[in-house]
Amino acid sequence: MQKILLIEDEHGMAEGIKDALELYGFSVSHAGNAEDGEKLLDAESFDLVLLDVMLPGRDGFEMCRLIRAKGLNVPIVMLTARSEEVDKVVGLEIGADDYITKPFSMRELIARIRALLRRTNDQKQTPDVFLFGNVKVDFNTHKVFCAEKLVNLTGTEFAILKLLIEERPNVISRDKILNEIWGYTFCPDSRIVDTHILNIRKKLECEPSNPDFIKTQHGIGYRFTA
Ligand code: CA
Repeated sequence: MQKILLIEDEHGMAEGIKDALELYGFSVSHAGNAEDGEKLLDAESFDLVLLDVMLPGRDGFEMCRLIRAKGLNVPIVMLTARSEEVDKVVGLEIGADDYITKPFSMRELIARIRALLRRTNDQKQTPDVFLFGNVKVDFNTHKVFCAEKLVNLTGTEFAILKLLIEERPNVISRDKILNEIWGYTFCPDSRIVDTHILNIRKKLECEPSNPDFIKTQHGIGYRFTA
């Protein structure tokens, strides 16, 4: 059974989400604030974290940063009540994998969760190691090393990198990346792709603003060259 940690302070909202997820076969642990969520994360492992942005005490952004600072690669979906673009982008920049804006339907939430879990739990990886520059990508262990130091890529970042490497040297459109990675089939906001690419470059490229490997094809998408 896949385990989800729900960090949400609004009781009614939390109950509704918990009931829906349990109905779909997930096991759900609920924390009403970031501090209690951290205790649960330290005590057990989860397959995914649903993280509300507006929390009493430490907010969802801080909590997201903390989870990544701990080196945990667990997929994180931010729940935001606000529709401002800035919140979405901030969430992605600090390591969230996806976001969903309240109010959302349970069907949409379940679809997002399933898409994220599908790719992060996909174990049938190319049994191979791929090298470029001073970077080593191990598709078996999902670990990436830069100059022999372990780099913490999130599950989503790893999946995008893998897709780019597999499709090299072809250009992959933003729409294709969105569809393959997030499972979106509707009119998307491609900013989510750009932000993740930016994060990967920061972690792996010597000069992120002038990348050697993950190139931008203006107006189309991205391609990997090595
Ligand atoms: Ca809240």
